[in-house]
Amino acid sequence: MSTAAPTDRPPSVDTLARSLAPSGLPHAICVDLAREAIAAGDARSAPARAEAFTRTLLTPVVNATGVLLHTNLGRAPVEIARSAHPVNVELDLGTGERGSRQHAVGQLFARLCGAEAAMIVNNNAAAVLLVAAALASGRQVLVSRGESVEIGGSFRIPEVLEQSGATLVDVGTTNRTRVGDYRRALTRKTADVAMVLKVHPSNYRVEGFVEGTAVAQLAELGVVIVADIGSGLLDATCPWLKGPPPAWLADEPAAVQTLAAGADLITFSADKLLGGPQAGIIAGSADLVAACGRHPLARALRPGGLTLAALQATALSYLHRRAATEIPFWRMVATPVGELRTRAETIEAQCPQATAVPTDALPGAGSAPGATMPSYGLRLDGDHLSRLRSLEPPIIARVREGHTYLDLRSVEPSDDRLLVAAVS
Ligand SMILES: *Cc1c(COP(=O)(O)O)cnc(C)c1O
Repeated sequence: MSTAAPTDRPPSVDTLARSLAPSGLPHAICVDLAREAIAAGDARSAPARAEAFTRTLLTPVVNATGVLLHTNLGRAPVEIARSAHPVNVELDLGTGERGSRQHAVGQLFARLCGAEAAMIVNNNAAAVLLVAAALASGRQVLVSRGESVEIGGSFRIPEVLEQSGATLVDVGTTNRTRVGDYRRALTRKTADVAMVLKVHPSNYRVEGFVEGTAVAQLAELGVVIVADIGSGLLDATCPWLKGPPPAWLADEPAAVQTLAAGADLITFSADKLLGGPQAGIIAGSADLVAACGRHPLARALRPGGLTLAALQATALSYLHRRAATEIPFWRMVATPVGELRTRAETIEAQCPQATAVPTDALPGAGSAPGATMPSYGLRLDGDHLSRLRSLEPPIIARVREGHTYLDLRSVEPSDDRLLVAAVS
């Protein structure tokens, strides 16, 4: 039932597929797209289909949103330099025997956190699941009603505990939980409590008549205390920065201080405030970390060599006190606003359409909700998001009140020339 003139015969799948070669897509994909175009009775749509397909693939982008840890952009940007050589992931170079894949990076994180031991899993959700399964399966876990939270992408504390085989016992009320509430739950006739789980409600803040129980108080209960600190701030004093810790970090729990206050184990993400690749860290008492490592789930949740190599580089940057220059996230945080302003004005001078304006950047990834840091960027009239996304590399910006904003705090200075080219 073709409506096309008989002379306007569709090209063969093969001819059409070969015409898509300039897209750079593999031939097999070009054949699929050519077939789809012909089946839709619209052979001429094939190049557009190839372009649309290309845009579904992962590609480096310029993050001009001002959200430094953008979840849609994979959170912390990491530089990965790696040769094709194998890595001694599980080979002990001292003895030549099989070693532990957890040893190399685990010891570095133990040192950084002030813990006896540490181990690495795929993300923090995996860390919480493994800790609960290894330490509390078939037993009770006390959680404050105010901390029985959902954190982004359907990580919900009650559901994670259910999957671990542990029984969640709610303690206190949604707005106030005191140490006495935990004590009552511990001394109930039916109590078989394996641990208290304290969860940092990372991505929202409740204000007013609220009260939680500090780790130092929980530590007096005489039961295992596990703290999911979420964002992975290593040390509240930020010794890797030149000045004092930024004010916006004030409410973020930190690994060193949480363990020093008496937590037996902490868990956190590696790709939030730590600024590393996606991973989860479990750190604390050697016995408890070893128990997690022995659980069958540890094998299912173990990280690969690529992750471990990137995480080792992150840990070494902190230990060398070079985090502020070597870790992209902290480099962005540490950039003085005056420097961002100079960059914005340099771009403005080359692009009459762009106006240099002060902006507010955000840490992102649910860390320090509501907090902003002073920044500088460029404002364009109108909504240009779609056009900016179509560039090579794509530029991701934000629109507010009919203007497009390109925030420079999340852009590498070497990418400013891409913004100039995009805007002019
Ligand atoms: C982010 C976060 C998680 C989930 O961490 P992933 O690394 O994304 O799995 C869990 N708990 C808290 C408190 C968090 O902030």
